[in-house]
Amino acid sequence: RERAREILETVEDRDDTRLGVEAMELLDAYGIETPTGDIVDDPADALEVAENIDGDVVMKIVSPDILHKSDIGGVKVGVGNEDVYDAYEDLVTRAKNYQPDANILGVQVQEMVNLDDGVETIVGMNRDPQFGPLMMFGLGGIFVEILEDTTFRVAPVSEAEAEDMTKEIDAAPMLRGARGNDPVDIGGITETIQRLSQLVTDFPAILELDINPLVALPDGVKAVDVRLTVD
Ligand code: ADP
Ligand code: MG
Repeated sequence: RERAREILETVEDRDDTRLGVEAMELLDAYGIETPTGDIVDDPADALEVAENIDGDVVMKIVSPDILHKSDIGGVKVGVGNEDVYDAYEDLVTRAKNYQPDANILGVQVQEMVNLDDGVETIVGMNRDPQFGPLMMFGLGGIFVEILEDTTFRVAPVSEAEAEDMTKEIDAAPMLRGARGNDPVDIGGITETIQRLSQLVTDFPAILELDINPLVALPDGVKAVDVRLTVD
């Protein structure tokens, strides 16, 4: 919690309060697992990070001005070490084409999570003027707005409430193993909902927070993308 406070203070000291960089560390401080990786601001550093990760990596543009990275080609999945330099330049070029004055903080290099075994979910929070912090859970990924398969509870949520949330969405059978797939780690999802609920209860300065996707795997969950707005 102390670490989370320090991280949030550095964000509040800046003008820019919409950021993904510190958001990953914040999740980490609350025991929510994130993919290994780092955010770098030159191709050589990107290669160094990639070399320290087993297998191919995922590379993403990091900019407070780009909210939906994949919409502008700002996410590259399955990048081999030999392609890291090109991918880096390409991501920056695409971002500049999209918005010439975009504040580009760098590129995130991440371990690749095996989506074939997992389900992309979303866990989020919005502060409702009437109800206060509203926790959201649903089917995640880039089509979340189209599918709108979500459910809500006021934070702080209990374990039973969090578990109910995982049962309420239309896609609930996918989590429990459909079409011969292994069931995913429901306990990991409910724990993540609760930890996030605790985080936003501890820090009212967090106005909005989304983990999308939280990839739910048979043996755990991973917060692959997080977006956060502070006061
Ligand atoms: P955005 O939501 O801004 O477009 P994301 O980081 O959520 O960017 O990436 C978009 C999609 O790319 C994810 O929904 C997921 O399908 C895929 N993806 C992103 N990061 C990873 C990763 N580390 N491993 C596997 N797939 C990933
Ligand atoms: Mg996302």
